[in-house]
Amino acid sequence: MPDLLQIGGITDDMRTRLEAAFTIHQLDNFKPDEITHVITNGHDGLNADLMASLTNLQAVSAYGVGYDAIDANAAAARGIKVTHTPNVLNQEVATTAVLLYLACYRELLRDDAYARSGDWESSGASALTRSADNQTIGILGLGRIGQAIADKLAPWNPTIVYHTRTKKDVAYTYYDNLVDMARDCDVVICITPGGASTNKIVNAEVMNALGPKGTLINVSRGSVVDEAAMIDALSTGKLGWAGLDVFEGEPHVPPALRALSNTVLLPHVGSATVETRAAMGDLTVDNLLQHLKDGTVISAVPECAHL
Ligand code: NDP
Repeated sequence: MPDLLQIGGITDDMRTRLEAAFTIHQLDNFKPDEITHVITNGHDGLNADLMASLTNLQAVSAYGVGYDAIDANAAAARGIKVTHTPNVLNQEVATTAVLLYLACYRELLRDDAYARSGDWESSGASALTRSADNQTIGILGLGRIGQAIADKLAPWNPTIVYHTRTKKDVAYTYYDNLVDMARDCDVVICITPGGASTNKIVNAEVMNALGPKGTLINVSRGSVVDEAAMIDALSTGKLGWAGLDVFEGEPHVPPALRALSNTVLLPHVGSATVETRAAMGDLTVDNLLQHLKDGTVISAVPECAHL
């Protein structure tokens, strides 16, 4: 059986299907020149040195849609097919973004604490919150998930605008400048890929433009937001609220962010439901099995789509 290198965890269902077709090796026990396939995930990826050492590598299947931890151009140059799991997680990540949006606007954590602590009984009604209806919401990265977020927000009657590098064929207002978009928005939701082209593009200038009443939601990658600048903006009132699923140094969450009451923090659970993770696991394995069968894959990353 061909040799598969496993990086990161896989579910029992994935293992059962893979064991029928591959000999699975762990990182502490494999011969580099025997490995033809790799299974990994968006967080662990495949580091450049390890990929270079796998001289007979043919395909890399990543569990997750973001593949910024894999050098897909280097893989494509060697004819290695890199796959990911687009689309099957769109709705779940969109739900996570909406959850953070509503939690910030309606002070879900503050009021949950108020009800639990007994303060309601002892001190009376809690302070009013803000309505999440009729807001102007800027989507940074209007791709598969960005569009799902826009769709899922519809019941709150938002005005959706967006910023991407290239204008899309949609009815929403396009901004070619992120600062200009932030200035016109109540909320900015980040849902671009990570990597060099988006590194810290949400910087102090963008957050200042969003302003003291503004809300920043990040379900993309921690690298997209300048975390130190965000902590400063949230602490000094230059930015109103932040709802965050992702962080620069995951799983480390800076103590300063944890201490702030105008944040809602999640441990990178954008797609983390039983149903969606099962669908991602199926597609991750399907890509590998199809590659074994006929050399093709189902969902190549764009850099490898021509292979
Ligand atoms: P898509 O490729 O469909 O969409 C990406 C969008 O980002 C496109 O509209 C693209 O437009 C835009 N974009 C890319 N680079 C830039 C840039 N430098 N500046 C502005 N816009 C940019 O990806 P998905 O929607 O499927 O996924 C997006 C990302 O979401 C993933 O890569 C991953 O990092 C993150 N994610 C997070 C999850 C979580 O658990 N929190 C779960 C799943 C995904 P254009 O090319 O025109 O710029």
